[in-house]
Amino acid sequence: MYNHILVALDLGKETDTVLNKAVALQQVSSCKLSMIHIIEPISYAYGGDIPMDLGEVQQQLEDRSTNKLEELKNSRQLTNTDCSVLVGRPESEIHHFAEENNVDLIVVGSHGRHGLQLLLGSTANGVLHGAKCDVLAVRVHQ
Ligand code: AMP
Repeated sequence: MYNHILVALDLGKETDTVLNKAVALQQVSSCKLSMIHIIEPISYAYGGDIPMDLGEVQQQLEDRSTNKLEELKNSRQLTNTDCSVLVGRPESEIHHFAEENNVDLIVVGSHGRHGLQLLLGSTANGVLHGAKCDVLAVRVHQ
């Protein structure tokens, strides 16, 4: 059905729901699964406001996220699965990763928001717009 599924995980409460759906699809397709988490550069948020080297803090955040992804992978004994932590804006990094790695399905969580909030862009909405492959928005309850 699919050859390479990409699941984007925010590592929050909805992670299990979104990952479970992606793993089920991986199993029926017998395909590769990539799990990614994106971290916003701390300098975007704090710019020059904090008089310290943020590189180390950024590295700690990246290491912690990498460990969490690996834990999720190991707890489900996933094979043919890789984990990546990237730095940037979630939508752009997800699109970029998908194009670079011939992903044919992107799985994200969606809160099913309505109206302006949806227009102004949840991550799922941002991923859907501009994606060059199928996108599955998994309904998660808040
Ligand atoms: P949001 O619209 O930000 O509530 O997020 C909806 C979905 O987008 C999440 O369930 C994830 O699938 C994905 N997502 C949001 N933020 C990130 C992130 N930092 N890294 C990877 N995926 C994310």
